[in-house]
Amino acid sequence: MLSVILIIVHVGHSIQSASKANQLSFGEQIPIDMSRVETIKTQKSEYSSESTVQPIRSIRIDGDIILGGVFPVHSKETRYYYGNKICGDIAETRGVHRVEAMMYAIDKINNDTDLLRGMKLGALIMDSCSTPAFALNQSLDFVRDLIGTSDLSGYQCNDGSVPTEKQSFRKSVAAVVGGSYSSVTVQVANLLRLFQIAQISPASTNNDLSDKKRFEFFARTVPSDHYQARAMVSIAREFNWTYVSLLYTADEYGDQGADSFKVAAKDTINGTYRQICIDDSKRVDTEKTKETKKAITELMQKMQSNHDYGWGQVVVLFANTDSIQKIMNITSQVMEEMGEWTVNGKKKKIIWLASEGWDRNNKNYMVDNLWKAADGAIVLMLKSPSIPGFDEYYKSLRPGTPTFERNGWLKELWREKYNCRFSDDPEWAGKERCENKTHTGSFHADDKVQFTINAVYAIAYALDAMYRDECPSQIVQNTWITRNSPKISNCDALSKIDGNKFYKNYLLKVKFNEGDGPASYTILNYQPDLDENGDIESNSTKAPYVEVGEWLEGQLTIKHELMHWNVRNNKLPLTLRVKNPQPASVCMEECKPNQRKQITDNCCWACVECHPYQYKPNDTTCIDCDLGLMPSPDRLRCEPVNDLVYMEWATPYAIIPTLLAIIGIVATIFVIVVFTPVVKASGRELSYILLGAIILSYLMTFILLAKPTAITCGIKRIGIGFAFSTLYAAMFVKTNRIARIFAQATRSAVRPCCISPLSQVGLTAALVGFQFGYCLIWLFVKPPDVKKDFEMVGRSTAVLTCNVPDHHFLYSLIYDVILVVLCTVFAVKTRKVPENFNETKFIGFSMYTTCVMWVAWISFYFGTKSNFMLQISSLCISISMSANVALICIFSPKVYIILFEKHKNVRKPDGEYMLSKRSFNNNRANSTYATSDEPSQYTSLLAEQRRKSEYSSTRKLSQPSTGSSAQDTFL
Ligand code: GLU
Repeated sequence: MLSVILIIVHVGHSIQSASKANQLSFGEQIPIDMSRVETIKTQKSEYSSESTVQPIRSIRIDGDIILGGVFPVHSKETRYYYGNKICGDIAETRGVHRVEAMMYAIDKINNDTDLLRGMKLGALIMDSCSTPAFALNQSLDFVRDLIGTSDLSGYQCNDGSVPTEKQSFRKSVAAVVGGSYSSVTVQVANLLRLFQIAQISPASTNNDLSDKKRFEFFARTVPSDHYQARAMVSIAREFNWTYVSLLYTADEYGDQGADSFKVAAKDTINGTYRQICIDDSKRVDTEKTKETKKAITELMQKMQSNHDYGWGQVVVLFANTDSIQKIMNITSQVMEEMGEWTVNGKKKKIIWLASEGWDRNNKNYMVDNLWKAADGAIVLMLKSPSIPGFDEYYKSLRPGTPTFERNGWLKELWREKYNCRFSDDPEWAGKERCENKTHTGSFHADDKVQFTINAVYAIAYALDAMYRDECPSQIVQNTWITRNSPKISNCDALSKIDGNKFYKNYLLKVKFNEGDGPASYTILNYQPDLDENGDIESNSTKAPYVEVGEWLEGQLTIKHELMHWNVRNNKLPLTLRVKNPQPASVCMEECKPNQRKQITDNCCWACVECHPYQYKPNDTTCIDCDLGLMPSPDRLRCEPVNDLVYMEWATPYAIIPTLLAIIGIVATIFVIVVFTPVVKASGRELSYILLGAIILSYLMTFILLAKPTAITCGIKRIGIGFAFSTLYAAMFVKTNRIARIFAQATRSAVRPCCISPLSQVGLTAALVGFQFGYCLIWLFVKPPDVKKDFEMVGRSTAVLTCNVPDHHFLYSLIYDVILVVLCTVFAVKTRKVPENFNETKFIGFSMYTTCVMWVAWISFYFGTKSNFMLQISSLCISISMSANVALICIFSPKVYIILFEKHKNVRKPDGEYMLSKRSFNNNRANSTYATSDEPSQYTSLLAEQRRKSEYSSTRKLSQPSTGSSAQDTFL
C-alpha cells in the first residue's frame, strides 16, 4: 500500500517538472493524429439514450504502447421501464472528465521527449456504465489478443473478401487505468490478474483492494478508505457526536467503508479513547426502493421519537455515487411524508457525514426537493490540487477540433448538455446546432482528475524505466536532433510486456518524496443558496459546497464559523441571520449541573441526581462536600456555607411561647399576690418553692429563644433541669409526706420523721441539689459554648446552636422524669385521703397531665427535627405548659377559695380541733392538742381514718359540719 500512496506524491511532482522541462504551457493545443483514433459503437440496447444516434461503447487511440482505461462514462440504468438497458445518463464529471484527463496526460507524455522517447502511447478506453458485470464484459477487449480472438480466419467481409487485421490496433494493453467504483474495479482486477496486466485505479478506495494476495496486479493513486473512515471519526469527535447512525450501500464500497468506520469509531486517537457509538446501521440496495425507503424512514422515526437534540441525527453515509442521488430522493420523500418541511431546520433532520462517493459536481443532488434532504451535508473529498492546464484544455474542447472529435462521448455529452444536435445526426431538425456550443461559465474539474493523470504518468514512468533497463542500446542522447527525429526503433520488451515484471519491478517502484503523509481530505459543507422563501435559488452563482476544513495526515482542522448551522439564511445581513446551534448527535442530552452521568454503555448514559450537598469532580461522580461546605451553583467545587440562622424573636415560633410565658409569669405573680396575705396554713414554704419553680420554668422560654451564646447555653443546661427538679421535688416531698403520714397513721400514733416544714424544705433542697450538682459537673466537663449545626436544617444552612446536642439535654431531664414518676406514684397512692387533704388529688391531676404532655412532646420533638424553630418553640411551650399545669391544678383551687369563698379560709384552731370535736361527738377521746399544723394534720388524719372505719356503725353521727373543717388547713 505504501508504494501506491507514494505514487501520488511522485507523479504529482513529476507532472510539474515534465511541464517545465517541455515548456508546454497549460491549455496549449497538443497536436493529435486523428488517423489513430477509432470509436467503437455498440448495440443500442446497452444505452438508455433515446437519441437515435448509436451510442459509443469504447474509444481507441493508436500508439506504440496501448494503455487501457475503464471509466463510468454513463451511470447505471435504473429506469427499468426502458427495458433491459444497462447504461443510464452520461456522467460528465466522473466519466467524461476522467476520460479527458487520461487523454490529456497521454498527449502530454507523447509530447514529452524525455519520457519514452520516440514511443507513442495509445489508449483503449471503455465505458463501465457504472455496472460491474458490464465493465467485466467490456474489459475482455483488453485481453482479446491474449485469448486469441484476433484469429480472423473464420470471418468474411460483406464484399466476400477476407478481413485483414489492423495489427497495430490489436495489441493487448500494457496496463489499465481504472475503474472508478470499487465494485467495478474489483471485477476488472479479477480479470486482469489472470492475464498479468497491471491495473492502476485513480478512484477506487475500497480496503480490500490493498490485499496483494487477491489483487496481485492492482495499484492505485488514491488512499484506502481506512483513512477516510478515520477522517470521518475525527469530524464526529470534533463536533462531539458520539452517537451516530450508519447508512451504506450493499456493494464493495459501502460494505468495506462501513466496516472501516466501525473499526475507526472504536479506535484510540492520540492515546485517548473516545468512542463513537453506532446507534443504527442500515445496509441498503438502492435498486430496491421499498427497502431503502423503509430503512430511511426508520432512521427518521428514531429522530422523531427523541428529543430535539435527536439521537443519531448524524448519519454516516458510505454509498456509491449513483446511489446517493436515490438516497437523497427517498429521504426527501420521507421528510415530506413526515411533514418535516414546516419544522425548523435543525430538528429531526439528517445531517449526512458522507464519504467521497458523494459527487459534488452532480447537479442531480440539487433538483426538486433533493437539496432539502442533502442540505447541510458534510462531505469528504480527496485533497487534490486543481490542474489549471487540464481546466484550460477541457474548456477549450469544441466540436470540430481533433481533441473533441477523438472522444465520441463528447458528442453525446454536448447533445445532452446543450440539448442540441450535430449536423450529421439523423434527427436534428428543430434543434440547436451543437457545433456552435462551447463551455461557458465556471468550471469544476472532477475531484479525481489529478489522480487519473497521476495514474497515467505512473505507468509512463514505469514503462520508461523498463525501456531503459530492457533496451539500453536504443537510448540515444537527448539532443535537438534526436528529439525531432522519428522514433528510432521499437523495444521488444515494451511491445510484449511481461506484466509481472512490469508491475513488481517498475510500477511499484515509481516513487520518491518518502515520508509524506498517507492521505488528505478536504471537508465540504453543502450550503444551498436559498432565497427569502427558503427555496433554492435557481440562478445562483454561489458555489453550494463550502470548504470548511481539511484532514491532513491525521490532523483535522474545521472552521466552525463556516458551518451551515451557524448561518441559515445567507441572504440576510449578518446581524439578522438566524444562528442555529450545532446539532448534537448523542445518546442523551448533557446532564444538568446537579446530575451525574451513569454510563450505561460506551456512549450512552442516564442522568442521576446528586444529593444537594454533593459536588461533581467529573461528569460521572458526585462526592459529599465537607460539613460546613456546600457545592457551588455549577457543582464543580465546594464553597463555605454563609447562611447562619438562629431563632428570631419576630417569628410566630418565638411570639407564641413568649406570650404564653408572659401570661404564665403574670398569673403566677397574681397567685403570689393573692396568696401571701391570706395564707394561713402551714406548708406555705413549699408553696413558695413551687411558685418560684413555676416562674423559673416560664423564664426558661426567654433563655431558649435568645440567640445562643455561651452564657445562654450554660443557663439553659442548668436552668431547665433546676426549674423542673424544684417543681417536682417540692410536689414529691408533699405527696410523699402525706403518704408517709397516712401509712404511719394506719400502723401507730408515732409521728413519721421529716414532716416539719423545715425538713420538707430541706428534703426538697437535697433533691434539687443533686440535680444542680450533676449539672454543674456537666458544665465543668463540657463547658458551654455555641456551634454551627449544618445538619439540622439542611446542609446549606448553618444553625447556631449550643455545643451539646439537644438529646443530651434531654438525658439531663431523666432525673426530673424520675421525680415526676415518683410524684405520680405517691399522688396515686394518696388519692383516697380525706377531702380536706385532697391537695394530693390535685397534685395527681397535675402529674397525669404532665406525663401525658411530656410523652406527646417527646414524639413531637423528634418528629420535627428538620425545623429547629418549631423544636425550640415546642420545647418552650411544653415547659410553660408543665408550669401551667402545676399552677392551675395546685393553686387555682386555693385562689378560688381565697377570692370567692373567703369564709372558708378561716383559721380554725386546726384540724386537731376538728378531730377533738369529732372525737368528742363520737366519744372518742383524744386530748392531744397540736399547736402546729403537722401534728394536727397528722392527728386529724388518724382520726379521720378511724372515723371512716367506724362510720358505718354509727351512721347517724356522721353528719358533722365537715364542710369547713375540710378546708381547715387548705392553704
Ligand atoms: N471511491 C469510490 C469507490 O471506491 C469511487 C469514487 C469516485 O469514483 O469518485 O467506489
